[in-house]
Formats: sequence, structure tokens, C-alpha cells
Amino acid sequence: MGKSQTNGQTPTGAGGYVIPSGSARQAAISAVVNYKAHAPAMNFIETPTQDLFCANVFSKAVMKDRLPKPVFKSLMKTIESGDKLDDSVADIVASAMKDWAIEKGATHYAHVFYPLTGSTAEKHDSFLAPSGDGSAIAEFSGSQLIQGEPDGSSFPTGGIRQTFEARGYTIWDVTSPAYILENPNGTTLCIPTAFVSWTGEALDKKTPVLRSMQALNTQAQRVLNLFGKNDGALVSSTAGPEQEYFLIDRNFFFARPDLLNCGRTLFGAKPPKGQEFDDHYFGAIPDRVLAFMLETERELFKLGVPVKTRHNEVAPGQYEIAPLFEFANVATDHQQLIMLTLKKVAEKHGMSCLMHEKPFAGVNGSGKHVNWSMGSASQGNLLDPGETPHENAQFLLFCAAVIRAVHLNQGLLRAVVASASNDHRLGANEAPPAIISIFLGDQLTDVFEQIKGGGANSSIPRGTLTVGVDTLPPLPKDAGDRNRTSPFAFTGNRFEFRAVGASQSISGPLVAMNTIVAESLDFCATELEKATGGDSSKLNSALQSLLADIMEKHGKIIFNGDGYSDEWHQEAEKRGLRNLKTTAEALPVLKEDSVRELFEKYDVLSARELESRADTYLEQYILSIKVEANTTVEIARTLIFPAAIRYQNQLASTCANLKMVGYEFDTDTLDKITELVKALQDSVVDLEAGLNKHDFGSNVEEAKFYCETVLGAMNFVRKYSDELEGFVADDLWPLPTYQEMLFIR
Ligand code: ADP
Ligand code: MG
Repeated sequence: MGKSQTNGQTPTGAGGYVIPSGSARQAAISAVVNYKAHAPAMNFIETPTQDLFCANVFSKAVMKDRLPKPVFKSLMKTIESGDKLDDSVADIVASAMKDWAIEKGATHYAHVFYPLTGSTAEKHDSFLAPSGDGSAIAEFSGSQLIQGEPDGSSFPTGGIRQTFEARGYTIWDVTSPAYILENPNGTTLCIPTAFVSWTGEALDKKTPVLRSMQALNTQAQRVLNLFGKNDGALVSSTAGPEQEYFLIDRNFFFARPDLLNCGRTLFGAKPPKGQEFDDHYFGAIPDRVLAFMLETERELFKLGVPVKTRHNEVAPGQYEIAPLFEFANVATDHQQLIMLTLKKVAEKHGMSCLMHEKPFAGVNGSGKHVNWSMGSASQGNLLDPGETPHENAQFLLFCAAVIRAVHLNQGLLRAVVASASNDHRLGANEAPPAIISIFLGDQLTDVFEQIKGGGANSSIPRGTLTVGVDTLPPLPKDAGDRNRTSPFAFTGNRFEFRAVGASQSISGPLVAMNTIVAESLDFCATELEKATGGDSSKLNSALQSLLADIMEKHGKIIFNGDGYSDEWHQEAEKRGLRNLKTTAEALPVLKEDSVRELFEKYDVLSARELESRADTYLEQYILSIKVEANTTVEIARTLIFPAAIRYQNQLASTCANLKMVGYEFDTDTLDKITELVKALQDSVVDLEAGLNKHDFGSNVEEAKFYCETVLGAMNFVRKYSDELEGFVADDLWPLPTYQEMLFIR
């Protein structure tokens, strides 16, 4: 066999080894260099983008148009006021929905649901049913709209059900609009649903969002009542998620088994030029990328996703997309659609969209900042301080409730953003640290300090921004600067939870936020109800002492300084704040009594549901690292090692040849490579030994082992490989390099 490989056509190295001139890496580079756009250009004049908004949504306007008035009204009461759905309307809605969908070319309908994997799942059924006379008729009944029964046995449930207990139900979520998903070969009516087990337990990410919104509304109403606002207008939590992502050419993606299997590179030396120049951030968007963005936005517009912002991010090849905020449940579904659409459209443009939190070591990672607030139709945004926050008692109370909630539930907030991939971001010197704290800004911090000292009498004014150029007008300045280092920042009229990872569903963070704030509002309402005894003239003094008390006990969570600094880590420890550095430390928080009691008290998750989530996420964590470790072994053995020994062999034979003709050859490089190859081999053996350990007492113990031992062993394999990358001849190196992936497009 060995001889036949060197058949004269394949170039042969000095050591008799085949040089992989046809390697995946080289094929990828040449494909990228020769890339020609093939996605058809769109006509923005014939079809202006604004005409497309909600074109594929069974929207309020469509419903108003197509449903009998009483049915429409009844449905709106459910959607806008949170009233119970009237069963009798389902058949009528289903029929109107079916007609609308069929006019848009739909042949099937799909119940869309959101299992604990964080992805989106769909079960498709045809509208068509045989009519018995050899023809087929389109059918879609109210019961088919309301309830579906996918075989849910393969979705993770963390032990809630055994595989043989497969029954799971999808239940129509009236509050999230149905939509049409287009495919070149047909369209499908998609119906957002909750996914529950036969015993009624939540198996998905949507159900607890809906429950937590309900809990928040109940408690917010009590607080509003104290302020004499008792119109009962539904208080909803609102969310605006900013999605960061990377784009690389698809040819590179497929030439990297690590990206393919794990979504991140497990190998790769730092390029000579990274993001140090900051020349990519908000820079001009490359044409190919802009074409992709324009198409993504149009697709999302059709689906009623109000995308608004796009720009380059910090790292080369990194971008951001953000929609306008919506009610939390709709924002969550739309966020899933954003991720799906980004991936789909990127493929059309010959690229891969990487949503992993850290696809490239040493390069900025990707987050998903979740902007969160609460509000109602009559009250507007409850976290809007107005010009003079010190006079806005209602705002101060809602804001203080959030501060208290975050302080009391730091561990939970850390746990809901915990994942194997997000660990590479949190705590590294670029993303918010793993310590949860709140950035309030100067103005509010000052107001709350005054409250603590006995009462607030003033607010630092906004001031004016003067640029010093006569032609530029003076502008009102924001009351506070921004702080990129804070995991939880007040940004003028909302909080921005910045620790959420780019690949995560925003459901977990929103469920946590809604529930902990519901608990805090419950606490405040109870205190104030007690103190006033129904006498509203006592409200002001009761409020002053409650706010002072909250700031006294929970003000420690406020930190406006540099979250990346070492001083903050020491200071946070002094303040008694939790610093859960890894997922293995953070996820067990979900098993703490206080967390179980919290979710049980507000009917958001039962003990069993919570337990199943904790176990599912631990299992996912372990599995992710296992896959990474296996991929590391495979790449090290089958790609890196062979390349390294080919080069070693070439060098060795050059040395030998030169020696034969009387020259001395400096063997430094050869020695270094020999040493690295040996270290690489040994590190792979170590890693495999870790992977072979199976006797764990619990999943928490196993997660800890994977975190400390397996990840550590992987890092060694990478270290030696990355060093080898700096020595081995470039034409022998098998993997596309960081430089190529980040800069060639
Ligand atoms: P930046 O990058 O400056 O933080 P972006 O404009 O990219 O801001 O994103 C801010 C996000 O915050 C948007 O999705 C916006 O709609 C959202 N947002 C604004 N007001 C609220 C609110 N009341 N509740 C929730 N999200 C909000
Ligand atoms: Mg932001």
C-alpha cells in the first residue's frame, strides 16, 4: 500500500510522505477566493421593505379582517388582557387561519415548540384529508389548532418521563402570532405552542415564560393599586435581545471538524493581526455581508420580527442584529426565528453563521444582551425614571424592587446563563464577569444614596453635550454613561442583562427576571399594605422607609466601576457577592431550596419541573464537553499529528542528507518539533484517560470533573498543537487558520 500512494502524480515530500496539496484547507481557500454571489438581487423599489412587514403573519389586522367581530374581540381579550381563552372560538379561528394559509400556498401546518435543548422543534401535518370519494379536502379544526401530540420521547426531560412515556402535548399559545414559513417548494403554517407532558408538566422553554409573566402581572397590579392605579391594564414584561454572531465562509466551516461538531474552534494559533486595532467595530459593512443582512432583515420583516439595528461588532467577522422590544413571550419566539433566519440566509450567501459564544479563542466572544423592562398600556414603561427620578416614587419603587431581586438571586441569574459555551465568555477579560452586579449610573446611584440618607431632594440634571463645532447643535446628554463591563446595567429606561450567551434561548433569563421581580414586588406590596393599612396618605412615608431599607440591605449589588478589574473581584468578595466562575458551579444553584421555593411559590415551575431542568442542563454541559474532547482527540490524532510528523520527517531527512555531504545542520527546529510532537501525543493520552472515567456519584460531581479535568486536558492538547502551528510548514498545515477564517471573505 505504502508505495502505491507515491504514484508519480502526487507530490512527494523529502521523507517520502505525501504532501496534501489537495487538503480541505487549500480547497477551502481557493473556493473562497473564487466566490461569486449567486443569491439573486432583490428589488427594493418594486417591493419596498415596509410593505413586507407582517406579510406572512396571522396578525391582528388579518384577524380583524377575517374573524367575526365577537370572536375577534374575545381573542383580543386573551391576547391583550390575559383573559382565559374561550373554547368556542377555536373552530372559527382555525377555519379562518386555514383559509388564509392556503391562500398563501400552505399545504401543511406545524405546531412549533421549544424543547429544553434551546432549539426550535416543529411537527408538520398536512391540511389535506381523504374525503372518501377519491378526492382530498383541506381540514383544520379548532382542536387541531389548540392541541397537537408529537412524540416527545426524544427530547430531554431530565427524568420527568421515561422514554416509554412518550406522550407530550403541544398547546396553542394564543398570545404569539401564527405565521407562514416559506420554502422554495411550498409554505407551512406555523403555530407557536407550549409543550407539556401527559401529566401537565412543562417540557419546554415557553410554558414557564408565560407563567412567569402572569406572576409578574399579579404582583405589579398590587403595587400599582397602592399608587391608586387600579384600571387593571395588563402589566407585561418586555424584552429586546441584541444578537451577536460571526460570519465565516462556509468552505472554512466545513474544513474544520471542530466548528462542525462543536460550533467553536478547538485549535488555532492567534493571528498576527487580531482585533487590536479596533478597526472593525462599527466599520463599513462588507458588501457580501450587507447583502446577507438585507435579505435576513426582509425575511424577518415578513415574519413580523421588528428588526431595527445592524452593525459590525468588535471582532473581525463579528456582527450584531437587534429588533425593537416586544412582550417577553413574543420576543422569545421571535428571537428563535432570528437565529434560524440568520443561519438559513447565511447559507444562501455561502457563509456560516456562528452563534457560539466563543468560536475563536483570544478573539471577542458573542453575547446576547437582553434588554428587559415591564409596562402596561395605561402606565407605559414602569422603569422610565423621567427627568427627575427623585420625584418619581412609583419608578423608584419598581427600580428598587429590581435591585433587591437581583441581589437576592445572584446565583439564579448566573445559573440561567450557564452553559459550556458561555463559560468561555463570562469571566474572561471582555465579557461581563461571572459576578452578578448592577450598574445604575451616576444619577440614579445619587438618588438612591440620598434615599438611604433620609430622603431624596434632587436629581443630577442631564446636562448638554457640546461638541465645540459651531455647525453642530448642542444635544441633550444621557443622564448616565454606559458600562460595557457590567453584567446587568440600567440603560436609561430598562435593564440590560449582558451576561446572556449568543446561542442561548432568552427564555431562561426572562423567566428568572420575571419571577424574581414578581417576588420582590410581592414583598414591597405586602410591606406597604401593612404600613399604610389602606390609608393612602401614609404611602409616602412608608415608601421612604421601605426604599431606605432596601438600599441598606441590597445596595451592595450596585457597582458602577470596571467589572474586569482585579480590585472588583476582591471588593465583590468583601461585599459577599457570589462568584460562580463556571457552569459546574453555577448550575447546582438550581437545586438550592430557596430557588425551588421561589418558583413553586409563584407557580412558575414545580419542584419536579425545576429538578428536571437542572438535570437536563447538567447533562447538556457534560455532553458538550464530551463532544469537544472527542473532537479534540480526533483532530489531534488524524490531522495535527500527521502534519507534524511529516514536517519532522522532512527536516530529519534534510539534516541527514546535509550531514552525508559534510554540512552541519542546526537541529534546533527539529528538536523543538520532536519535543512538541511528544508532548502532543502524551496530552492526547491524558485526555483520553479523563474521557474513560465513568464512576461518578452524581451529575454535579461529573460536571465538576469535566470542568476541571477534561477541559484542562483539552487545553494542553491545544497548547502543543497551537505551538506546532507556528513551526510546521504552511503547505502541510491541515486546518484553515484563524487569519484565513476571520479575514478572507
Ligand atoms: P445598544 O446596543 O445601544 O444597547 P440597541 O438599540 O442595539 O442598543 O438595543 C437596545 C434594545 O433595547 C432594543 O432591542 C430596544 O428595543 C430595547 N428596548 C428599548 N426599550 C425597552 C424596554 N422598555 N423594554 C425592553 N427592551 C427595550
Ligand atoms: Mg446594548
